[in-house]
Amino acid sequence: MTRIIDRFGTGSPVFSFEFFPPKSDEGAEALMATVLDLQEAVNPDYVSVTYGAGGTTRERTQQVVSRIQNQIGLPAMAHLTCVAATVGEIDEVVNRLVADGIENILALRGDPPKDQKNFQVPEGGFAHASELIAHLARRKELCIGAAAYPEGHPESADAQDDLRWTIHKVEQGASFLVTQMIFDNEHYFRFTERLRGCGVHVPVVPGIMPITNVAQIDRFTKMCGVEIPSSLSKRMHGYQDDPASVMAIGIEHAIEQCRDLLARGAPGLHFYTLNRSLATRGVLAALKG
Ligand SMILES: Cc1cc2nc3c(=O)[nH]c(=O)nc-3n(C[C@H](O)[C@H](O)[C@H](O)COP(=O)(O)OP(=O)(O)OC[C@H]3O[C@@H](n4cnc5c(N)ncnc54)[C@H](O)[C@@H]3O)c2cc1C
Repeated sequence: MTRIIDRFGTGSPVFSFEFFPPKSDEGAEALMATVLDLQEAVNPDYVSVTYGAGGTTRERTQQVVSRIQNQIGLPAMAHLTCVAATVGEIDEVVNRLVADGIENILALRGDPPKDQKNFQVPEGGFAHASELIAHLARRKELCIGAAAYPEGHPESADAQDDLRWTIHKVEQGASFLVTQMIFDNEHYFRFTERLRGCGVHVPVVPGIMPITNVAQIDRFTKMCGVEIPSSLSKRMHGYQDDPASVMAIGIEHAIEQCRDLLARGAPGLHFYTLNRSLATRGVLAALKG
């Protein structure tokens, strides 16, 4: 069974790992080794492969996602953005994915390229992820997921606006949602409660990033508008020159977070691995153990 939506509701949480496509052939081999390592150690339900900012990794995403599913045998989901792409270009990418047996797509708008301040709608393309989702949903062989932002997307006017467009993505054909990384579960529970209150019942999978590097996580969270609880922030900054302690704190926090999420009904966990297996393995080993 490779359609991700069919994995939910079986009584077991759905675990997934996210990777980005490496730039070189050596990097691709190293990534395959990491995926194999994670498969043997914790056997995730599926893995996902990101699409470079501005749609820059079309071929690499397709190659990596295809190798993971067809050579390693793990169901794989391709991220796909509509930034800087015409409908024809998007269709070409999707045709290639489908030809490789990839049915699962995380449909996204994407961020504007670095030299552009605001998102510009490409001529002959889509303005929002919801338009991409509606376009893909005509192909019944696809299982489509979308992104959600429990603390709000940085461009959203307010939480209500954000909720409205998240619901729109589901109405257009997204069958599950994967969230931006969260460090405080209450954001996730409040967000899902508001969705449920609007009659939206698709699985909402929280995004987990075990902290391994203080400067990096400070940069990511600032960019995405995500909050780190002050007690955790204080603790990790106290050890910022001691990588082993930072990793231990990050893993400990992620384990606590994941236990609470699963105990209170989250349908699964999506790990942002940054292409490394150690921290994610540590968290999942504790959860499964
Ligand atoms: C799980 C996850 C995976 C990701 N993977 C990638 C990746 O692989 N590659 C990549 O480049 N980026 C990725 N991103 C980042 C994502 O591309 C950015 O956050 C981007 O800015 C928004 O994408 P979206 O699909 O949420 O867009 P949208 O749903 O289009 O939302 C963008 C903004 O527009 C608003 N909006 C949405 N629809 C409408 C509408 N119809 N009218 C008016 N306003 C609207 C939303 O509220 C939001 O503020 C990922 C994000 C997440 C959470």
